Amino acid sequence: MRITIGRLLLWFLLTATWVTHIDAKTTAQSAIRKVAVDSIVLHAIGGPYCDRGKLSISAAYGDGASWIGFFSDHKVLGIHYVIDRSGIVFAGVAENRVANHTLGWNQTAIGIELINHGNGKETFPKAQIDALIALVKGVMIRHSGITKNRVVRHSDADQSTFECSGVMHKRKTDPGVQFDYIEFMQRI
Ligand SMILES: [Zn+2]
Repeated sequence: MRITIGRLLLWFLLTATWVTHIDAKTTAQSAIRKVAVDSIVLHAIGGPYCDRGKLSISAAYGDGASWIGFFSDHKVLGIHYVIDRSGIVFAGVAENRVANHTLGWNQTAIGIELINHGNGKETFPKAQIDALIALVKGVMIRHSGITKNRVVRHSDADQSTFECSGVMHKRKTDPGVQFDYIEFMQRI
């Protein structure tokens, strides 16, 4: 079979992941890793919190550049990647550094944030999921210690709860019910 330049270019366009690199500030929270990466934690930006006694969801407006900037400037939180709704990947903390995104997992995990309101209603666009899958596959190639059962949702990794007007709620529900984890796992 003859492979034309055009076909090669098309293959490249369909499979390439564009990654925009932002030089995230390195702080005491983003030290060079001492242990090998063995896991990936998937997040959505939005999530539940207690607002003056009322259960609320923090929304996730804004684009990838503003969110990676938010994490870069944050004194405590950090993230390796943010993927916007159109499927553009923004790199923050380098993979060989710790980022503070998941309690108890940070020393060995890569954190990926999907821009999504995290309210269980907003769907994840196909372009965003396709970019996530390409990114995860790349991370798994770079870090051979990551097994599929260690590619988890934040809601799997953190079972903590918080109280709001006397009712207990799960603190971490992201990426949420709109994220098709079963299909995602089949595709990585
Ligand atoms: Zn999260």
